[in-house]
Amino acid sequence: MNPKYIYFDIDNTLLNHSRAETDAQKEIYQTYNELQAVTEAEWLHGYREMNHQLWIQYQKGEIDREQLHHARFKGTMHKLGISSGRAEEIGSAYMMNYGKYWSWVDGAEYALEKVVEQYPVGFITNGFQETQRKKIEFMNLERFSKTFIISEEIGVMKPHPKVFELATEKAKTEAIHILYVGDSYSSDITGGRNAGWKTAWFTALNGSIQDGQTADFIFDRFPLLTQFLKSGN
Ligand SMILES: [Mg+2]
Repeated sequence: MNPKYIYFDIDNTLLNHSRAETDAQKEIYQTYNELQAVTEAEWLHGYREMNHQLWIQYQKGEIDREQLHHARFKGTMHKLGISSGRAEEIGSAYMMNYGKYWSWVDGAEYALEKVVEQYPVGFITNGFQETQRKKIEFMNLERFSKTFIISEEIGVMKPHPKVFELATEKAKTEAIHILYVGDSYSSDITGGRNAGWKTAWFTALNGSIQDGQTADFIFDRFPLLTQFLKSGN
């Protein structure tokens, strides 16, 4: 493959978002006893479903960031029959907790250190400017690159072609020479492929591979990615 430039997704590719979300929600569940009207598993499942639906609405521009942040708690509480009087307070507490539980995906930091010895890299992330900037700082990603594309800053989200067009310009190479490493089939792999990029799909944290889903390289452990890149496929 021999890419000339490699972009990385951040959430659930480099930073273990799922773990931070689960741990932060567990703390919320323990702290706010109205939530204990359902089991912890029911609460987590309900929240994830609601959050997912609201993200789709946010992606379509039907709701804004504030609405998303509040409705995901209020909505889950309504749906589960929990009194939602403290929904806003809980939503704010969750965002505080979430940052406390950030950690790297296993092996990702070491892999990135190796990759930058051979390739220029950049980062593309869907998400909120303020939160994503804090993640970038937490992981000290600026030691690897100064190129960051954050969806909220440019007004459209992956897989929107504009994201990839802008990223291609910033990479200063042709689309065919760019590799995108990400975990989301719909945002990263589809978006990258539609832009004419090569794709490497990290599957360890994001469910199972469905029939017909493909990428140029599929991996579930980071040493496999570094091996693949070293061998110059
Ligand atoms: Mg991701």
